[in-house]
Amino acid sequence: MAVKRQLSMVLDLNKCIGCHTCSAACKLMWTNRNGREFMYWNNVESQPGLGYPRDYQNMGGGFDADGALRLGRQPSQEDYGIPWEYNYQEALMTGTDPWLRPHVKPTWGANWDEDQGEGDYPNSYYFYLPRLCNHCANPACLAACSRNAIYKRQEDGIVLVDQERCRGYRYCVNACPYKKVYFNEQISKSEKCIFCYPRIEKGLPTACAQQCVGRIRWIGYRDDEDGPIHQLVEKHKVALPLHAEWGTQPNVFYVPPLSPSSYAADGRALDESRIPLSYLESLFGPRVGEVLDTLQAERQAKAEGRESELMDILIGYKHAEMFKLS
Ligand code: SF4
Ligand code: SF4
Repeated sequence: MAVKRQLSMVLDLNKCIGCHTCSAACKLMWTNRNGREFMYWNNVESQPGLGYPRDYQNMGGGFDADGALRLGRQPSQEDYGIPWEYNYQEALMTGTDPWLRPHVKPTWGANWDEDQGEGDYPNSYYFYLPRLCNHCANPACLAACSRNAIYKRQEDGIVLVDQERCRGYRYCVNACPYKKVYFNEQISKSEKCIFCYPRIEKGLPTACAQQCVGRIRWIGYRDDEDGPIHQLVEKHKVALPLHAEWGTQPNVFYVPPLSPSSYAADGRALDESRIPLSYLESLFGPRVGEVLDTLQAERQAKAEGRESELMDILIGYKHAEMFKLS
């Protein structure tokens, strides 16, 4: 879908510390009440893991190899996690219950499998994967909407749900393979990440990027050759989309994580990556190995005191310079 310009984000997974400040910033700004309590327009997942909503990667959606729209399934409330209340009155005021506890037994929720990952000590591993709407160039949510309620802004490619037109059919929820459209039962309408467009229009970065403790996020336009997105995606070719095979042409890109070494039973460091390359390829496609080689070589160059334009960008010396919004 052609737009005049496309706003885009790159996230360096080598720098994410899993602090969830981005999610908190987003939630406090956009989704902390009124039927949005379960919505995480930005969330941070431990990978390998089931993600949020639970097992979203196996719910379908997106487009098949011939470009035909696939309607996947909708997450159930259990896939998001049943919200619970605490017995504050009984536990803290009347003393009739000695334990402060939820009113239902929780079995799943956002970050339920945080920091679990895979593998056994000393070769266990995980990494953090922040996720938000990809503001796709070929948005499955938009293609699925029979009300034409979802549109892509010409000036910046941000994908929005027109709240006046939405009738709550939820085809968009089925169709988005990233499950980044949420249904608000209180108002019977779908809602999603708006890429903080009121901030963008004032020349400010998104709340998640502004607050990012690890400085892992760059924002800019795809066509700006001096900007960070072009530099990382097109010039240095180290930023890759998540699940490009789903056919939506995401505009959020990830610098994949370098892996720590594996250890033998006797404690010797082995020349083997702890995070299996095949696993990273299942997320970011077949170019991951090549990207990791580039990152390793450039990191080594910097460590040896040689110049590395790529490392200078990735370090992000000045936070304000990570955003190029004009
Ligand atoms: Fe639509 Fe999902 Fe793509 Fe966002 S990530 S634009 S909700 S298809
Ligand atoms: Fe990662 Fe930044 Fe979010 Fe912290 S604020 S979890 S470092 S993306």
